[in-house]
Amino acid sequence: MSDCLFCRIVAREIPATVVHETDTTLAFRDIAPQAPTHVVLVPKTHAGDAVALAAAAPGVLDDLFLAAGEVAKAEGVAESGYRLLFNTGADAGQTVFHAHLHVLGGRRLGPLA
Ligand code: 5GP
Ligand code: ZN
Repeated sequence: MSDCLFCRIVAREIPATVVHETDTTLAFRDIAPQAPTHVVLVPKTHAGDAVALAAAAPGVLDDLFLAAGEVAKAEGVAESGYRLLFNTGADAGQTVFHAHLHVLGGRRLGPLA
């Protein structure tokens, strides 16, 4: 989708600091990090949110979680712990409507809401 921010990052039309890539996923640093490690993982094909992705391409969800594990290892937070988060819809704070998995870590994280 040409008007989707994360599709444009996947297409390398908008720069991002890419930290990991597979055939189906791309991981890049969040532009406004909420923790020392804050990486966003996206499917390379567009889906509006994680549930839409599950319906359209369930295997890609597995790919995102496996990639998240690789990112956590590379970031040095695999042992200390990290949070995996899909904001889904406006009330959850989703602002970019291309499914994305946040990887947050590197400090003690607070309560969820
Ligand atoms: P959401 O709030 O939708 O769950 O997460 C969207 C995330 O994308 C936010 O954490 C926001 O900081 C990040 N973000 C928004 N625009 C950009 C951008 O242009 N580049 C990068 N790397 N991250 C972005
Ligand atoms: Zn998109």
